[in-house]
Amino acid sequence: MNNIQAVREQWTQDDPGAAPGASPAPGAGLTAESDGRGRSPQPIEVAVIGAGQAGLSSAYHLRRRGYEPGTGFVVLDHSPAPGGAWQFRWPTLTYGKVHGMHALPGMELTGADPARPSAEVIGAYFARYERAFALQVRRPVDVSAVREGGEGRLLVETSAGTWAARAVINATGTWDRPLWPRYPGQETFTGRQLHTARYPGPGAFTGQRVIVVGGGTSAVQHLLEIAEVAATTTWVTRRPPLFRAGPFGEEQGRAAVALVEERVRRGLPPQSVVSVTGLPMTEAMEQARAAGVLDRLPMFDEITPGGVAWADGRTIEADVILWATGFRPAIEQLAPLRLREPGGGIALEGTRAVRDARVHLVGYGPSASTIGANRAGGAAVREIHRLLRQGAPVAA
Ligand SMILES: Cc1cc2nc3c(=O)[nH]c(=O)nc-3n(C[C@H](O)[C@H](O)[C@H](O)COP(=O)(O)OP(=O)(O)OC[C@H]3O[C@@H](n4cnc5c(N)ncnc54)[C@H](O)[C@@H]3O)c2cc1C
Repeated sequence: MNNIQAVREQWTQDDPGAAPGASPAPGAGLTAESDGRGRSPQPIEVAVIGAGQAGLSSAYHLRRRGYEPGTGFVVLDHSPAPGGAWQFRWPTLTYGKVHGMHALPGMELTGADPARPSAEVIGAYFARYERAFALQVRRPVDVSAVREGGEGRLLVETSAGTWAARAVINATGTWDRPLWPRYPGQETFTGRQLHTARYPGPGAFTGQRVIVVGGGTSAVQHLLEIAEVAATTTWVTRRPPLFRAGPFGEEQGRAAVALVEERVRRGLPPQSVVSVTGLPMTEAMEQARAAGVLDRLPMFDEITPGGVAWADGRTIEADVILWATGFRPAIEQLAPLRLREPGGGIALEGTRAVRDARVHLVGYGPSASTIGANRAGGAAVREIHRLLRQGAPVAA
């Protein structure tokens, strides 16, 4: 029996938590309002925004609980193909180079060629997964806003019409919001500037003088490959990088997650992963360090037409500045709900927004990893199911 058959059979067994139809009929109590294009909002129990690891894990758990695609839940994603953000990652990020990628719940990713780009491997795996569980992801559908709809419903406004949902799982990741800091003189630079989000692989930097900015895993991966072909590479980071020797076990993982969780509970924006985990030292990194590729300079003070400059008079000429400066949560669509705390983040209790129990964030803060997203999808669905079974609108 293959994985897919196994999962289908699992679904046919009784699930004590499953309650298709236990919740009020979709649309019950909904006031039909136009979505501005003459169409009434489509009633739905749960709208899942995003079909990456976090969204698919959530959809899987919704199906296991008996919610049907189309009436019980809908998954909306604005990317062109399955794969979440993985589909946009550079070709040299092969599957073999991805560390700690956890399979989605209910279906292993087996036999993948480590030499193939992870964009292809994971894209194909997600596509298989969506088919196996008939998740019926709607794409490309862009969610522009989620707002209060009255009678306990949330209006999910999209490029394909409006859904009126009783609960929303926001699983939009970070890839769509690259963080690109501004420095004096940036607009005068005559070379090329790009962000990790548009990194095409090392070939584009052959023979060039490249400055890589940022202290995370992506920066290190870029440096290691670009150093092979570039004329020169320079690494600059705001803080000295934190290399981690030795294994990163479950205990360290739990401690790192607890740190982020604590910030998010207090309504602060989640910090970068590397700030809590450190940079895992690999053999390739050891070699690069010995060759001087990972010698790091502090952040420059100014960008000049020909390169970068420090206040002490030091300058470096460059053809390219590559900003590996990370990403921020892509949560602008939730702005009308005013979930943000004065600290700038959305306070969560588990995955639930403290300010609105109908909204869950999966893949945000402590669950922004493949394993975290898996677990958080299950937890969010458990709570939402409980909430919807109560029947009453539960606006905070
Ligand atoms: C270079 C890189 C390597 C990584 N490697 C690992 C690793 O090895 N292991 C690991 O655990 N984690 C890794 N991560 C973190 C990893 O990205 C997450 O763990 C996980 O894959 C993110 O899943 P997600 O579903 O939260 O987000 P995404 O995969 O980004 O999916 C979000 C989806 O939401 C959609 N979306 C966004 N906004 C909207 C909107 N307004 N309307 C409709 N759709 C929308 C997007 O199209 C996208 O498909 C890596 C991250 C990066 C940047």
